[in-house]
Amino acid sequence: MYRKFILCLLAFFVANGAQAEPELRALIVDGQNNHDWRSTTPLLRNALEDAGLFSVEVETTPPKGSNMSSFQPDWSQYDVIVSNYNGDAWPRRTRESFVKYMREGGGLVIVHAANNAFGDWPEFNEMIGLGGWGGRTPQSGPYLRYRDGKAVIEQLPGASGSHGKQHDFQVVVRDPDHPITRGMPRAWMHAKDELYDRLRGPAQNINLLATAYADPEQGGTGQHEPMIFTLTYGKGRVFHTPMGHSSHSMNCIGFIVTLQRGTEWAATGEVTQTDLPRDFPSEDSVSLKR
Ligand code: ZN
Repeated sequence: MYRKFILCLLAFFVANGAQAEPELRALIVDGQNNHDWRSTTPLLRNALEDAGLFSVEVETTPPKGSNMSSFQPDWSQYDVIVSNYNGDAWPRRTRESFVKYMREGGGLVIVHAANNAFGDWPEFNEMIGLGGWGGRTPQSGPYLRYRDGKAVIEQLPGASGSHGKQHDFQVVVRDPDHPITRGMPRAWMHAKDELYDRLRGPAQNINLLATAYADPEQGGTGQHEPMIFTLTYGKGRVFHTPMGHSSHSMNCIGFIVTLQRGTEWAATGEVTQTDLPRDFPSEDSVSLKR
């Protein structure tokens, strides 16, 4: 009897689990970036597909400096947009439809230099909270740091985006109760990356989940800089990580898990991926996907 029950259960999972189509539709946007998007988009795609929750499409814009008018994705077809894009302005109609999509409850994921894009697009800067370079100035907004147990907004003169030399660094979880960071070690080593600092922006509605110390010995600010955060924009949700400069950085198991969970959160507001892989990085050692 018991054995029959197990067999039925197995049959059920084969029929309903293993063959089930992923339910969430994700669109990665690339095509222009001062980073190697041709190498990194497949890594983003693999990470999302490995989560088993997403069907993934890629929309590649025309090359830099060319006519962008053909770039008109139907955002409403997707639960979440993953930006691996840092380039020319999108056509006005595309910008407007994107703002509408987000206001009405869309999802957006910002990876590394995607936060360099569109310094002069106010709605985009509200969505992403913080950005660097891209013509940004102190008028673009304050810095956001973590100090004395809380996020601190600082309106200071200085650069609008910078980083020291690339190195392995520790990501420190500041909100262990959020579904994106739940169960992660309090601190984990991220594989060699650019540690973005002095990002600026409207910095509204930010929920700061993790930071990294920008060590002056590595050329950093000496501040605890935002590394994982979420925002809301209208009814939309944004997951933002400044990590992910290179393929090496994106092969960090910590980056992959953060991306998988953050993208699900941006798509649905929940995270069903509760188990951490056994090879998740520890407080003092990096762990790379083989
Ligand atoms: Zn970079």
